Amino acid sequence: MKTQVCIIGGGPSGLMLSQLLHLQGIETVVLERQSREYVLSRIRAGVLENGFTELLRKAQCGDRMDKEGEIHDGFFIAHSGKLDRVDLHKYSNGSSVMVYGQTELTRDLYEARDRMNGIVIHNAEDVQPHDVKSANPFVTYRKDNAEHRVDCDYVIGADGFHGVSRKSIPADVLKEYEKIYPFGWLGVLSRTKPTYKCL
Ligand SMILES: Cc1cc2nc3c(=O)[nH]c(=O)nc-3n(C[C@H](O)[C@H](O)[C@H](O)COP(=O)(O)OP(=O)(O)OC[C@H]3O[C@@H](n4cnc5c(N)ncnc54)[C@H](O)[C@@H]3O)c2cc1C
Repeated sequence: MKTQVCIIGGGPSGLMLSQLLHLQGIETVVLERQSREYVLSRIRAGVLENGFTELLRKAQCGDRMDKEGEIHDGFFIAHSGKLDRVDLHKYSNGSSVMVYGQTELTRDLYEARDRMNGIVIHNAEDVQPHDVKSANPFVTYRKDNAEHRVDCDYVIGADGFHGVSRKSIPADVLKEYEKIYPFGWLGVLSRTKPTYKCL
């Protein structure tokens, strides 16, 4: 198979990039290790920042989020027996966050890719990028006991921290960009009434 951009990983990043490139007339093939059902049942994010919601709209995938998502312009922190409200609107130039599940936005991205005849290959095993520093890189994978090869102009690694792409970037060109904050964050799920309704 030949394409312009081969994207490894069919999570939100890979699908979003595939959709944005398509809207610019650039062909992509997405290779995803898991089945679609598996990806769509993997519970993760629920709080989306402004920049991301704008991007989802730009990718023509924001309609359902705008109908079903909940805008929050602040949140409460409970500590020392009291509740303090962090007013996002006030402290971030009128910004807010959108509560809309990652599974839902991933579904919207898959559906958009299907509508536009995008190629997303699921259950792609042993995905491996090759010759990534050359002008003719390619990616191999196995599916249904057959070996496949995708020739492309660019390989994109959107397969997360533990994916194969990160390990495949030659050390002499690898640059890491990281911001470490001086605090940690722990989320706990509980069946509790929303705090603002208790006040
Ligand atoms: C519990 C939890 C809560 C979170 N809450 C929030 C939140 O509220 N707000 C927020 O913004 N973010 C949140 N996040 C972070 C958010 O989920 C990630 O930023 C997001 O999933 C990153 O998307 P991605 O597409 O880059 O990577 P992923 O979602 O990890 O997708 C990578 C894809 O690549 C595939 N893959 C991996 N290896 C290979 C391979 N070798 N070959 C082919 N495919 C491969 C995987 O199956 C996967 O589908 C949360 C994360 C977790 C775990």
